[in-house]
This record gives sequence, C-alpha cells and structure tokens, in this order.
Amino acid sequence: MILSSPARLQPGHWQRDLAEAISDPHELLALLNLDVAALPGVDTLATFPLRVTRYFAGLMEQGNPHDPLLAQVLPLRAERLDRPGYTLDPVGDLGAVRQNAVLQKYHGRALAIATGACAVHCRYCFRRHFPYSEQSLLGQWEASLHTLGGMHDVEELILSGGDPLSLSDARLAQLIDDVQRLPQLTRLRIHTRLPVVLPNRVTPALCDMLRNARLRSVIVIHVNHANEITPQLAASLALLRGAGATLLNQSVLLKNINDDADTLLRLSDALFAAGALPYYLHLLDPVAGAAHFDVDEERARDLLRQLQTKLPGYLVPRLVREIPGAPHKTPVAY
Ligand SMILES: *Cc1c(COP(=O)(O)O)cnc(C)c1O
Ligand code: SF4
Repeated sequence: MILSSPARLQPGHWQRDLAEAISDPHELLALLNLDVAALPGVDTLATFPLRVTRYFAGLMEQGNPHDPLLAQVLPLRAERLDRPGYTLDPVGDLGAVRQNAVLQKYHGRALAIATGACAVHCRYCFRRHFPYSEQSLLGQWEASLHTLGGMHDVEELILSGGDPLSLSDARLAQLIDDVQRLPQLTRLRIHTRLPVVLPNRVTPALCDMLRNARLRSVIVIHVNHANEITPQLAASLALLRGAGATLLNQSVLLKNINDDADTLLRLSDALFAAGALPYYLHLLDPVAGAAHFDVDEERARDLLRQLQTKLPGYLVPRLVREIPGAPHKTPVAY
C-alpha cells in the first residue's frame, strides 16, 4: 500500500491538526492522486460536509477510488436519494432525550451529548441530522448536571456526541470533576473516534484525568477497517490502558468497506494487537443519505458464522441492531 503522505503528528498539536482538517473534496482527491472524473458521483456541495483529518487521509491508498477509508468520508450524490424507511432520526434519539442533552434509553446508563463536533464526518453516521445546536451539554451544563443528578438509578454516564474528545482537556477536566460528584455514578464511558483519526489527541493531561478519576473508565473507539490501525494509534491506546481505561471498539457493517469475512477477521486481529477488544458490530441504522452502505441481514449473519469458526470468542464482535423503543441494543442471532 502506498500512503499518500507520511503520517506525521506532533504531540500537543492535536487542536491545530483538527483545525487543519480537510473539508474540500477536490483537495482530498488531489492528495490521493485521484481525478474527480474517476469518481463521478462526488458531491462537492453536501450539506453534511466532508471532514477528515490529514492524518487519516494519509492512511488512504493513493490512486484507489475504492479505498475503504476514503469511502467512509467522501460525500456522494447518492446520499441525496430518498429511500423509503431511511429517516432523519432512525434510532429514536429525539424521543429519548430526557432533558438538557441527556438521553436515556437503557437501564442504568445515561448518555450525554457532550458536543456536536467531530474530527471526521462519517457518511453513514446515524446522528448526521441530529439538531446538535439545540442538544449539547456545552451551552447548558448546569441544567444537564441537574438532570443527571436526578437520575438516581444511573451508574454509568456515557459521554457521546459528536465526539467528546473534541473538547479541550480543560473542559473535559471540569466536566469529569462535576459528574464524579454524583454519588450514584461508578463508571464513565467515552464514545470516541478521535484517537483513530488523530492519535495525538491522547495527551498526558487526558491520561492523568482518567487515572485520577474516581469513576472507572471505559473508552469505546470506532474503527471499521484494519487500515485504520497504525502504530500511532496503538501507542495512544497503550497510554489509555496505562491510565486504567478498558478499551473496546465498535464498528458499523458497511457495504464495500468491511462486508467480507477476511476484512472483519483482520480487523479483530488488528484491534487485539493494538489493545482493544471488538464490542459491537452494528447493522447500519437507516439514516437518510446512507442507504448505499446497507448490508442485508442474511449476509451479516453469514459473515458472523464465518468469523465464529475462525476466531476466539472474545474477538467476535456482537452483531446488533438498534430498534427504537427496545430496552437494549438488539442482538441479531446467526
Ligand atoms: C448504545 C447506547 C447506550 C449503550 O448501550 P450498551 O449496550 O451499554 O453499549 C446507552 N445509551 C444510548 C442512548 C445508546 O444509544
Ligand atoms: S465520529 Fe461518530 S458521531 Fe462523529 S460523524 Fe463519525 S460516527 Fe458520527
């Protein structure tokens, strides 16, 4: 594989790297030595715009219009097609908003929308249409804290978004400091893709914060393909593990990206080697604009049956679907 550029990252510079993320499809394609003519379906005016870090773009293969990392971030005109059943809020998040950017769907766990910002825009994201400006902790922190404080049976707070690690360390420190005063909480979970698209986001300050927190931490990263796993990512995950965090990964099953047994096998192996265990493999949520990523359930079952014959049980992710109103993520039997 020929990388488009050496993935150079300086410690302490993640915010600058984030600010320099690519948002122009022409620039991304030029970096990859791809002609727009080779990709006639590119949408240069997408309302959910392109966003990808230079580091992540550097993991894409030069000259390959079908690169599995490129396909996760490149806006296509196919996203504009209306498909029956594909909606703006496919998982019923809006119905689950308790108050003040705090969602509760499942027993014992509450999910807080820490911020609407992400370091990468994934085309299949089920929150691509979520009204973040109205639902984000940042603007209404005191009220959100109050809502959480009243949820007496919640032991685990999940920081989600958007991507909670797009917040500064100072902001996160304040947030963690505030929530860990709530006596009912024992666990803090962070759902993040930032270490994957910008490994230098894992700063010493972040690790100290996790190490010194009263709450036990679980970090769920989001990797869909083994090409996303690099020595830099592995080094960052080692720091997080050193800070006491349990590391898990969730993936989405995506057509032409990771929907074959070999690719999923390599993903599980690479995750383990980098220090994270596969947790969930999600069937695509039917979000408007993402229908072209869908893998049908029968094929998904077949893939899992194959994985199961080749991998130890702890490297086989749980195949799940999110059904609005269900009391948990719904396992898909295979
Ligand atoms: C996915 C999700 C969770 C976490 O579910 P787990 O099965 O514990 O990983 C919690 N709250 C919401 C709103 C979710 O969407
Ligand atoms: S990083 Fe996560 S929340 Fe952000 S666009 Fe990608 S899938 Fe969606």
